[in-house]
Amino acid sequence: MPSTATAPAPALAATSGTSPGRPLPAPRKDPTLLHAHAAMASMLEHGLAPSPANYLVWFSFHSDSAPGLRAEVERRLAAQPRVTQEMMEELHLQFFTADHEALSLREVASRLEVAVHEAIGLVQDTREDALRYGGTLAQASDRMGGEPESLNALLRRLAAETLEVSRRSEAAARNLAETARKTQELRHELAEARRLAGTDPLTGLANRRHFDQALREQLGERRSTALLMVDLDHFKAVNDTHGHPAGDQVLCRLADILAEAAPEGAVAARFGGEEFSLMLPCAMLREAMAVAEQIRGRIAQAAVQLPGGAQFISVTASLGVAMAQPGERPAQLIARADAALYEAKRGGRNRACSDPPSPSPKAESVWN
Ligand code: GH3
Ligand code: MG
Ligand code: MG
Repeated sequence: MPSTATAPAPALAATSGTSPGRPLPAPRKDPTLLHAHAAMASMLEHGLAPSPANYLVWFSFHSDSAPGLRAEVERRLAAQPRVTQEMMEELHLQFFTADHEALSLREVASRLEVAVHEAIGLVQDTREDALRYGGTLAQASDRMGGEPESLNALLRRLAAETLEVSRRSEAAARNLAETARKTQELRHELAEARRLAGTDPLTGLANRRHFDQALREQLGERRSTALLMVDLDHFKAVNDTHGHPAGDQVLCRLADILAEAAPEGAVAARFGGEEFSLMLPCAMLREAMAVAEQIRGRIAQAAVQLPGGAQFISVTASLGVAMAQPGERPAQLIARADAALYEAKRGGRNRACSDPPSPSPKAESVWN
């Protein structure tokens, strides 16, 4: 994969024609500079605009600072060696635009912290009040035993103090209740922010981040798992012919079909662009292929109503299925499902292929 080498391209100074008259300085040993040069070189090499988003993706690729990005770029380049601006946008969306969600999570968490500190402050104040009141009572008792003070005056002082403490306790209890209500509200907000951080905004399915985590956990528990990758056929043509909103409509319909077909315990996700994934906790390739075939059929039969409502279109999808092998890492399983998907495309599309190729008795469960 020549276009994604970690080292900066040696011909970088020569390619600095984008800034006439002032060649980029030769990279020194500072790794940040090296990554910056490599990022610029990659953008030039692939004919991409040197936009901040493109730079961020390439810089993170070369410095390997965004978990999963390098593997994803390599996976995409293996399927399609030319990097397009569309690909860059998808990568940026997938790996970097969730930052604002992380920010909102952080914000809710810090508000929650403030509320908890308020509550602790209230409890401390109330405790100090109680201590002071105890002190007043002790003083009163001392006085009654020593120099005589009018009993009436003492009782008045005690009554006034009692009233004050009870008034403050009441206010503290009210504040505490309000803080508890705020905390509850924030807890809901936090749960919602967490849910959104794992959701694809267009289709409402799980996003890649959520899916990767679910797959890691599933494989970590060494449970039998099938992975289905679903990719719409000639989807670019849908966008080109009917427009991007129509394409979005198709993606939403595909998401609905996947969600409906997902059995109990399965995780359906938008893997990226027009590619979807389904993780099935099942033991046999035969079952996984049956689900894949059902999804393929439902997609092919669906008439998708386009925005405006007057026109319907139909689409097809190709599917790749792979069964997890014991000890296999998520990236390896994904690569095998991808390879099967590629076979389905090569075989004429609108079909499901598997890795290993066909469900045979030998391809049955490899788990215990
Ligand atoms: P193939 O059968 O080989 O998969 O062909 P294809 O046209 O489906 O694949 P290609 O990779 O050439 O094009 C994918 C298209 O998916 C290009 C891109 O614009 C489109 N796409 C990706 N994300 C979105 C999205 O969120 N909305 C819409 N409408 N289109 C998207
Ligand atoms: Mg496609
Ligand atoms: Mg695709």
